Amino acid sequence: MPQITRVTCKECGKRRVKATIVNPLTGKKRKTPTKICQECHAKVIDYRFFSSSFGQWLRRAFHRQCTESIPKDTDSLGGLILLWREYRAAIGLCSDGETITKKYDYQICHIDPVKGNNGSVGALVPKNLIIAPKELNLMLSNLPYPTTSGLTVKRGDLINDDNFKQICRERYDLNRLQRDFELNVRDKKNELPVFENSGVHPSLMLLKELNRLGFKTNRVLLLEHVNLVKSVYETFLTVGGLLAKSELEGYKNFTREAQESEYIYEALTPAEKKRESKDKRKALELLDEF
Ligand SMILES: [Zn+2]
Repeated sequence: MPQITRVTCKECGKRRVKATIVNPLTGKKRKTPTKICQECHAKVIDYRFFSSSFGQWLRRAFHRQCTESIPKDTDSLGGLILLWREYRAAIGLCSDGETITKKYDYQICHIDPVKGNNGSVGALVPKNLIIAPKELNLMLSNLPYPTTSGLTVKRGDLINDDNFKQICRERYDLNRLQRDFELNVRDKKNELPVFENSGVHPSLMLLKELNRLGFKTNRVLLLEHVNLVKSVYETFLTVGGLLAKSELEGYKNFTREAQESEYIYEALTPAEKKRESKDKRKALELLDEF
């Protein structure tokens, strides 16, 4: 019989068996490198997930959703995290060591509105979401989407602070998501570092989002035509993606041909992510802290 070795858990101080973690890619189990028991390990992961910037954003977003309209499983929630990361990168967070500012004001907006007809709910999944300038979202958020993204569902149970964490624990592998996406909590004791992110100009964001949502185009508005960018976004949200695309392509004198790298998302899988350069990962981590 294999001998069960116990360690003194660094969290609760009890003599217990070390926590086991599962590699999400290979399914292999191994003991954690730190001396911690399973119970405390789960709590730490919980804490990191729910206290990270994404965890806090998710809590606010889920409060407007129901059990039928949120991502079904771990992989779907992973897709939402990737979109959220695009949104964070687009904002262009900067810090002078004291305050954090952003270069652009975007929101992740519903295409089929959250509050649909007869109590239906617009799902919180990437296909029903578009990263758009905040002012447009505030102006248009209550309009019904004309062609519908087909992602409105019947209302399920409400989500609030009482059941939010429990629903997440039951439905998603928080441990895996926390590690794969390196969702961490900033140590408030440490000084705020100085950093700068360039953000994504609305004209480029529009191009990326049209392509991601299936309205393929390689025309991008020249940066100075911000009003035309808003107009195309408005068309998208009020008349639909097809007309938004043709409006954009109609501005022949105000657009240029985009490079492929400008309209294709770098949707990284966790395995690919590991191969990224150290610098880029550091930058992503830093971004994740706020
Ligand atoms: Zn413990």
